[in-house]
Amino acid sequence: MNFEELKENYSKCKLCSELLERKQIVFGSGNSQSKILFIGEAPGVTEDKQGVPFCGMSGKILSELLDSVGLSRDDIFITNTILCRPPKNRNPKKEEVNNCKDRLDVLIELMKPKVIVTIGNFATERIIGQKEITKIHGQVFEHKFNGLSLKVVPVIHPAGYLYSGRNPEMFEKMKKDFEIIKELSS
Ligand code: URA
Repeated sequence: MNFEELKENYSKCKLCSELLERKQIVFGSGNSQSKILFIGEAPGVTEDKQGVPFCGMSGKILSELLDSVGLSRDDIFITNTILCRPPKNRNPKKEEVNNCKDRLDVLIELMKPKVIVTIGNFATERIIGQKEITKIHGQVFEHKFNGLSLKVVPVIHPAGYLYSGRNPEMFEKMKKDFEIIKELSS
């Protein structure tokens, strides 16, 4: 299977009965040849409208963080733990994360990234089985995936930063974590 086939296979997915009110499936965006894969939580309202992950408020912060280390959206690929917006932006349910598991596994297999950046608790738990993002952000986890050795860096979700009222100390920590990502990817 190639990238376009994977996208096509999921373009009409109906596995999650509570997520069918979505406007569209937000598969991912950026450079599918990149060795850096970012994984968020789930599309929000803006992403659902525009079909692009992280194109709303959180996305603006993500772009600033990338920019702070000289990376752009074209240098990375971004997707989410689940592809469809949960109603009222509730958290993804376990079964929804499971329903989207094969899709993400195949994406990783096709991309063979050197570095996976997990944004927030949901993506981090999905990839390395750990949460507590406030404790483990910025650490580098060696990860084996289907015979592939890669590095996983959990980062604080931009929504957490927005929720903090844009705490400047938090933003400094987030920028430091992006410096680690930049180093690993070069
Ligand atoms: N938050 C996410 O986790 N993903 C998006 O695509 C947008 C906001």
